[in-house]
Amino acid sequence: MLAGKPLGSLSLDLDNEWAYLKTHGDPAWESFPSYLDVVVPRFLEILARLQLRVTVFVVGQDAALAKNRAALASIPAAGHEVGNHSFHHEPWLQDYSAARIEAEIVSATDAIVQATGVRPTGFRGPGFSLTRSTLETLARYGYRYDCSTFPTYIGPLARAYYFMTAKLTPEERERRKALFGSVADGLRPLRTYRWDLGEQSLIEIPVTTFPIFKIPIHFIYILYIASVAPPLALPYFRAALLTCRALGIAPSLLLHPLDFLAGEDVSTLAFFPAMQLKRSRKLAVLERALDIYRELFEVVTVGEHAASIERSPAAPRVAPRFAS
Ligand SMILES: [Zn+2]
Repeated sequence: MLAGKPLGSLSLDLDNEWAYLKTHGDPAWESFPSYLDVVVPRFLEILARLQLRVTVFVVGQDAALAKNRAALASIPAAGHEVGNHSFHHEPWLQDYSAARIEAEIVSATDAIVQATGVRPTGFRGPGFSLTRSTLETLARYGYRYDCSTFPTYIGPLARAYYFMTAKLTPEERERRKALFGSVADGLRPLRTYRWDLGEQSLIEIPVTTFPIFKIPIHFIYILYIASVAPPLALPYFRAALLTCRALGIAPSLLLHPLDFLAGEDVSTLAFFPAMQLKRSRKLAVLERALDIYRELFEVVTVGEHAASIERSPAAPRVAPRFAS
């Protein structure tokens, strides 16, 4: 009898054009420029062709705007899970009071229900920011899982690169001082577990990085490698996934809208890594990478991944520890 493929999950953080401009310090964000009408049909078509269902983490602010409703409603209609990616997409939740975090999560939940008819049960913090009160709020409001941890050592490097390219005032720099996390984030587990919150608990599905080395393997990095050292991109990706399989780690990989867009689609974000790749080349590499993922793993939504942990009494319990 053939053994089944091991489980892996796939998600997409639906960061909109304005969210990138906002983090980058560009005032053009204030009119909420959106590329959802372009990118949503594009990724739905590609995922349907590859027979993949994913979890799409939606930003509450987008769900609250009438102009985005049709694009957002088409996501669950195509069979994908909808998750919560905060309301304002401000990647510095660690600076927020418990009340403000609660407002972020609840207002985003309400806006997402309004726009899509679906109540999310999973959360990913903007820029992988996560706090204890975020976990407690999620558990209190009936969420089943969080997937905001990103166990990598390269966070501080990514931040240095970002500070070099962004246009920020000293105050804006101060707010973003913890962006992309600290070296200590690299010590967080790659395997799934339960956050121990006293009476309650919440499943944690970490964003997978290369086991042992803890360097990123999600698609934005694969596409970046494809733009600077083309022959390395897919072998690197395959090696990471084979290592996960060898170590019995169920991966959870992450897509972004910019994986499906090129500089020719969205000129305001042409400065981003891998945006200079031609659209046809970029989509060809992305589809090949998704195909490798499918070949090695049974790819499911993050909610389905969480359900498999809920059924497993062996999942370790971890006490939440955060720098702030
Ligand atoms: Zn995001």
